[in-house]
Parts: sequence; C-alpha cells; structure tokens
Amino acid sequence: MRSTIYSVCPGCHEKTLVQEMGGTWRCAACSFDYGTLARDEPAREAWMLANLRGGPMTQLAVLHLHRVIRALPLVESNDAVVAFAARHGVALPTGKPTSPLWFVAAVVGGLVVLLGGVWAAFVR
Ligand SMILES: [Zn+2]
Repeated sequence: MRSTIYSVCPGCHEKTLVQEMGGTWRCAACSFDYGTLARDEPAREAWMLANLRGGPMTQLAVLHLHRVIRALPLVESNDAVVAFAARHGVALPTGKPTSPLWFVAAVVGGLVVLLGGVWAAFVR
C-alpha cells in the first residue's frame, strides 16, 4: 500500500514526506532512515514527542511508523503510543482513526456526502 505520511524528521528537523524505500522508511528530503529508531529508544521517544505535539497529521505518522519500524501488532503499537502520549501530557483524541486507511476512508466518505449534496441541489 502506498501511503502519504508526513513527519517531523529527526535528521533534518523539517516536516517532510516519509517514503518506503527498500524495506525501510526514509525522509524524502535527507534520506534519514526511520528504521534506526527501532533500536535507538531516546531518539525514537524524542521523535515521537515532537510529532505527537505537532497535530493530527504527524500524530498519524507516529501511530503508523511506530508500528511498522518495530513490527508490532496494530493494537499493541497503538496502545504503546497512546500510553506514551498520555505520560507526556499529550491527549490523543479518543475514537480517532489509528490507521491511514481509516483516514483516507473518512476523507473519501466526506467527499461522497458533499458531492451527493451538490448533485441533489442541482437536480432539484
Ligand atoms: Zn529529513
């Protein structure tokens, strides 16, 4: 699956696109390898904190990348991220979609409703 993930990069400190490349995840700007965060806990936690505080878009990146770089089951990974966020005073919205797929589904669903409304207004 191709997904669009933006994260504040530990390498270049910019909010950049994260791309899957050769079995790992890299910053599109500086090629920082997010796979290294799996082994480097202080760096991983610093990255998680910066992104959890950065808003919904980068929170989504943390939820997704935390799971893929550590190869954890979805629920276990999400629980770990939510617990980490709570320890640092970051409240993740409850009932929030925890996978980019859900996010895409929500956006597409919203568009369908919107277009349906526009169409209904014109055929009346
Ligand atoms: Zn970078």
